[in-house]
Amino acid sequence: MSSADLDADLVIVGAGIAGLAIAHDAARAGQRVMVLEAADRVGGLVRRAEVCGIPFDIGAESFATRTSGVADLIADAGLPLTLVAPAPGGAHLVTTGETGSFPAPLPRRTVLGIPADPLAADVVRILGPDGSARAAAERMLPPLRAADEPSLAALITERCGPVLLARLVDPLCRSIYSQPADAVRLSRLHPVLWREAVERGSLLAGAVACATDDRAGAAVGGIVGGMWRLAAELASAAAARGARIRTGAPALAVNPHGDRIAVDTADGPVRAARVVVATGTSAARALLDQTGRRGSDSETDADAAGALAVRVVAALVAGAAFDDDPVGSGVIVAPGVPSAAKALTHANAKWPWLADTLPAGRHLFRLSARDARAPGLETPADLAHEIALLTGIPLDAADVLAVTSAVYADAVAGAPVDDRRRRELAGSGIHLAGAAVAGTGLASVVPHARALAASFSSTSHSRSIA
Ligand SMILES: Cc1cc2nc3c(=O)[nH]c(=O)nc-3n(C[C@H](O)[C@H](O)[C@H](O)COP(=O)(O)OP(=O)(O)OC[C@H]3O[C@@H](n4cnc5c(N)ncnc54)[C@H](O)[C@@H]3O)c2cc1C
Repeated sequence: MSSADLDADLVIVGAGIAGLAIAHDAARAGQRVMVLEAADRVGGLVRRAEVCGIPFDIGAESFATRTSGVADLIADAGLPLTLVAPAPGGAHLVTTGETGSFPAPLPRRTVLGIPADPLAADVVRILGPDGSARAAAERMLPPLRAADEPSLAALITERCGPVLLARLVDPLCRSIYSQPADAVRLSRLHPVLWREAVERGSLLAGAVACATDDRAGAAVGGIVGGMWRLAAELASAAAARGARIRTGAPALAVNPHGDRIAVDTADGPVRAARVVVATGTSAARALLDQTGRRGSDSETDADAAGALAVRVVAALVAGAAFDDDPVGSGVIVAPGVPSAAKALTHANAKWPWLADTLPAGRHLFRLSARDARAPGLETPADLAHEIALLTGIPLDAADVLAVTSAVYADAVAGAPVDDRRRRELAGSGIHLAGAAVAGTGLASVVPHARALAASFSSTSHSRSIA
């Protein structure tokens, strides 16, 4: 089949940041690119909202600076965006102790809550002397081995004790990765820390190798105006390079047919030499199931879908008492705290560009629901209660001026297919990209997506890349 018989050289399903980055790079390399996006807007989990006419991020609002992926993309694509660092206030943790719930600064020199020095004063303040001593004893244990890695929760409990798990590691894991520590493995969440820890035989020694002296939450960057602008500008740049981006156009199935691939849409099939599925995990699983490999159990799927959802609620409030940034950039909430939120961001305390756009005495808070399906973050009274609980500053419902929210149905990353199936799919020209395979966060998603796009240019006549 000649390439003229195809609707596109490359069809990308999903216009999140992964899909857009691939669309941009592949179109720039001269490929005929079509992007199919189910929603009526691009960006996926990078999403704009407004309160009282002020735009802000209600999805991803930063990127980790542990890779240069986002900065490189902006520079290479020539996007008119300005990178910024967050204000230096750092994040806090609200946890429960003998005296009730209290916010304390997240300790420096920790990685995913694992401290380089469990006896440092900022760690002892959260774990207490006994919890800290138990964690410090990890160095005396027999060396950590890579074989038979248990869940992160079991690993921490066994090596560092239950207090470190309950007060630091599990709250951070839930807040950053939207999953409890008993549902994940360290080697997947933080491969570098895992490698360093195994090499040294100790989790604490691994944390020493990886931790920086920055305030917790400081190793991130942002974009003036909001991260949503990255999606908007990247889509414009991809379109300017010739990529066709169709919104409101869900892919219904992806089927290999000989040396071409058919992507079914409501308007009929689109044919391409290659397809990248850059949706969330459950959408990718559903699309790739259509090839007839696996049936689905609707009850289990519905349960799983609920567990994969993430809800963010934003509130604009009036209150001069917040001018002093009582919890820095925000708080992470430990599971035992009686709150409907697992994290709160004081958005204008974190991002000076946002503070500049708000009138004096106005503050913007973003809260991530602990359970996307549970009530407790709807009304101004709910929000006033939660913000007061988590910041320690009393707030009246009448001072909650506006509330808006977003639900992300497919936000928790996990492999949609096993490695063998992934290789098989790649052999027939169907590739996976995005957080589902690269891991959560733009610092992982962007470099992975761009490496995949580059592999297409360097192997344009071969489909054997995974
Ligand atoms: C509330 C929240 C806050 C976050 N904060 C941060 C942060 O501050 N920093 C950070 O680095 N990361 C953050 N993340 C994670 C980060 O946003 C994601 O890892 C990243 O944006 C994923 O990008 P993606 O392109 O892989 O997928 P997505 O953004 O999920 O995009 C997938 C796209 O595919 C589309 N789609 C799905 N099914 C179909 C179909 N059948 N046909 C066509 N299109 C389809 C969807 O509509 C969507 O637009 C956050 C995530 C959430 C939910």
